[in-house]
Amino acid sequence: MRKLDRANVAVPPSLAGPSQAVANEIANAITYYAARVPWTADHTSYQFQNYRGADVKIALRRLAGGNCAYCESKIGAVGAREVEHYRPKGGIAALAGHPGYWWLAHRWDNLLPTCRDCNKSLRQHIVNPGMTEAEVLELQGRRAAASFGKANQFEIRGQRAVGGAVMLNSKIRCLSTPAGTIPVSTLLGISRSS
Ligand SMILES: [Zn+2]
Repeated sequence: MRKLDRANVAVPPSLAGPSQAVANEIANAITYYAARVPWTADHTSYQFQNYRGADVKIALRRLAGGNCAYCESKIGAVGAREVEHYRPKGGIAALAGHPGYWWLAHRWDNLLPTCRDCNKSLRQHIVNPGMTEAEVLELQGRRAAASFGKANQFEIRGQRAVGGAVMLNSKIRCLSTPAGTIPVSTLLGISRSS
């Protein structure tokens, strides 16, 4: 995992503007989540669609040189295959009472380009550096027993932000990010406006 420098990649127009579609989606999401307080496991997350426009995928590809932000594998010649939310937008693993960081769904500094294996929770083989080719081939011949992938995992130490009501503290997050430190002041600005 390498640090990604966003200073040389402009915020994609659809997010920076924002586009009418993104603006509408933000407004709809605010209404959606406001009607579901307190959040419970019975609720379903808002289905965001407009954070992954072609301009976003192209910008993410430039940001990481066409590589997955986590495993650095090549992820396609045109755009990012997966648009990953570093802070998950649709819920947090093993935390049913939290809706996820939905207010960061369109934040450029919360988006990463990833391959499908890193983004989704899928059954996968994990190859260790010390394994021989024969061991790798033997491993790949078997059905993977465990699921790996970030999915909605986002462990932190400390108080978790909920819809902007609680301050984010990126200094105590547990999951490292190739984007470096997301400025807390930036995140707080979004929190207050949402
Ligand atoms: Zn990957």
